[in-house]
Amino acid sequence: MAREDRTVTAGFPARQRGRGAVVTGGAQGIGLAIARRLLEEGARVVVADLDQGALKRALDELAPLGEVAGVRADVSRREDVIAAIDVCRERFGSLDVFASNAATADMLPLLELSEEAWRRMIDINLTGAFHCIQEAAREMRRGGGGSIVATASTNAFWVEANTAHYSASKAGLVALVKTAAIELGGEGIRVNAVAPGMVRTRLTRFLTDDPVEGPRYLERIPRGRYAEPEDVAAAVAYLASDEADYVTGELLVVDGGVSVGVPLAATEEPLPGAER
Ligand code: NAD
Repeated sequence: MAREDRTVTAGFPARQRGRGAVVTGGAQGIGLAIARRLLEEGARVVVADLDQGALKRALDELAPLGEVAGVRADVSRREDVIAAIDVCRERFGSLDVFASNAATADMLPLLELSEEAWRRMIDINLTGAFHCIQEAAREMRRGGGGSIVATASTNAFWVEANTAHYSASKAGLVALVKTAAIELGGEGIRVNAVAPGMVRTRLTRFLTDDPVEGPRYLERIPRGRYAEPEDVAAAVAYLASDEADYVTGELLVVDGGVSVGVPLAATEEPLPGAER
């Protein structure tokens, strides 16, 4: 089958036309791709991010695509999340889509994981998402419904060494999303998550761009390439849209098949003593 031209950016369906959206961690990486995709589908977007410099650069990039506003926000502070939602309602009329995407990540062996490092990770990745989901749901209930999509990770169920704090935060996030989905379905609010595998962003460049480890990791990915932020944004845009109207409490894995099993390349070596 002929490959699609992945550089084409025009022609997305106008699935989010007239909607107000907030994207946390939207100043770069996956969040920036989500903000761009929602704008391209017609939403008006508030980008909420901790990093003032990255936020400014993102707004410059996104402004030609539609109506966009920026709020400096730390998701671990509830009042910052509320402020971002207020801007969305006041500037764009309603909060219809909330992408809870902001997170931090680092790798530390369990036995070297300090209490401080553990708490910081949980504060941002899990308590931050709790603030976002709860405040977004309160606003959406007032507005008659909406769609919340959280960025989890394959680490929620398929862990790697040295990620106890990160993996636990993402596993907790998935449980939070599922619980929210069953409590909020009757309010017209859907709550879903995406689980990206290895996406080429600043969080992962130490591995994806490593001349030795990069190609070695790639062999484990059945799809044969790393994800781009746009791959995840497409899944978020689908879950946010009415096309996913009957989908809630779902974890949509976007990992090129890596967590499904071992690809052929990794099984080509014959087992010891086996005839080929
Ligand atoms: P990134 O570092 O490129 O972007 C994250 C953004 O979040 C940054 O702009 C940062 O300033 C912002 N941020 C960090 N802490 C914040 C806070 N407390 N409040 C508000 N904003 C904050 O990272 P990314 O790779 O784009 O990751 C985005 C999401 O995807 C995260 O939830 C991450 O866990 C998840 N994820 C990433 C990968 C990957 O391979 N890159 C894989 C699985 C899941």
